[in-house]
Amino acid sequence: MDESRTWDTRVVAAGRPPRIPDSPLNAPIVPASSFYAGGELEYARENAPTSQALESALAEIESGSHAIVYSSGMAAANAILDLIPHGGAVIASSATYTGVRVRLEELHSRRAINLKQVMIEDTDAVLAALQSADTSAGPATLWIESPTNPLLEVADLPAVLDQAKRLGARSVVDNTFATPARQRPLELGADAVLHSVTKSISGHSDLLLGAVVVRDDSFAEDLRTRRVLLGAAPSAFDCFLALRGLRTLAIRVDRGEASAQELARRLAGSPRVTRVRYPGWGTIIAIEVDGSPEEIDAMCARAEVWTYATSLGGVESLIERRRRWPLESTNVPVNLVRLSVGIENVEDLWDDLSMAFATIPSTH
Ligand SMILES: *Cc1c(COP(=O)(O)O)cnc(C)c1O
Repeated sequence: MDESRTWDTRVVAAGRPPRIPDSPLNAPIVPASSFYAGGELEYARENAPTSQALESALAEIESGSHAIVYSSGMAAANAILDLIPHGGAVIASSATYTGVRVRLEELHSRRAINLKQVMIEDTDAVLAALQSADTSAGPATLWIESPTNPLLEVADLPAVLDQAKRLGARSVVDNTFATPARQRPLELGADAVLHSVTKSISGHSDLLLGAVVVRDDSFAEDLRTRRVLLGAAPSAFDCFLALRGLRTLAIRVDRGEASAQELARRLAGSPRVTRVRYPGWGTIIAIEVDGSPEEIDAMCARAEVWTYATSLGGVESLIERRRRWPLESTNVPVNLVRLSVGIENVEDLWDDLSMAFATIPSTH
């Protein structure tokens, strides 16, 4: 669509079939593993019509030239990791999405990559790590999550992406938390944007999908080949649901963010909350709660409007203590609770949280 239109309008139109008589308004679900030979599709691990429609929509809303959709966010992350040269330097946030951090540490411990972890908020530390990276195996990779999951640290993206570009490092930004409604890293010079489409983009907690969006043609080709060889192809049904969810991304983020801003303000005054982490925008809040892990887990389970479950970015608000996961980083406080704010009424969300806090014995 015309690039002069606002992002909110383009997200509604992106990836639709052509406007010709009797064309459906929405990309149809095409459940096929194989296609008659001689065309561009051939086999669904390579290309398929429903995933192509989602790819075209994602490329447009992330200001990219190509998107490659995978069967989950982790599959998308692994496609990028698989392209790092053996022994290549990787500079990554020390507190990043658990699955990605564990993968990076595994690859480092078997010497497949040379990992340097930094606090992504510390711009000088990121710049110093980029400068001192050993590039004898090939270009370094800068792996950024901003805001980070679940500590909500924010990177100075223009500064670190600019430096990565000048030093010839490949930069990857996991934009799952911010969503392209709030941040479009390719416009700031990133080489790749990673998404867990499972989260806000699809928005209804009913599928697993991932994507990488890039501008460079040969990087895109390499990423597509990784999908073919790693076998991480998405299902047509899930791609259809993701496209359907995507249409409301702008209004879901607006609504969840307005509620999150109000809740963050009120939480800061709550006697049960010892720290609120909220960058001032977006739909995710992390709080530290005055209680034991057992008491906090019981509190999460008592909530009625909030759902006690992992994940984020859906229409329903979710609450969870992150360290209940054994692989979660020890940098994350044991009493940290992640709140994913959905589209319910903010007063109901607040009343329910207050009720749940009141279940914690006040002996602390
Ligand atoms: C959930 C998540 C992932 C992994 O995505 P899946 O779809 O669960 O495989 C990666 N990065 C971030 C920031 C996430 O929140």
